[in-house]
Amino acid sequence: MDPTDKPSDDAAPSGAPPSRPGDEAPAGTPGTGEGLCRRCGGSGKTEDGQACPECKGTGKVTVGIGGA
Ligand SMILES: [Zn+2]
Repeated sequence: MDPTDKPSDDAAPSGAPPSRPGDEAPAGTPGTGEGLCRRCGGSGKTEDGQACPECKGTGKVTVGIGGA
């Protein structure tokens, strides 16, 4: 119930890339790494030539590695 408990959107941590919809985990999470976006196959674009919404056009997303 404390409004100050909410993180501010203004103060993005420096060096931390913005999260992408296709990310399975936040960047830097142990046990995860960057992998090719499954939607665009790493091209960063959809078949329409639009920036891929999953990876924001980067062609990469953070995915879980190891395990499974
Ligand atoms: Zn993509």
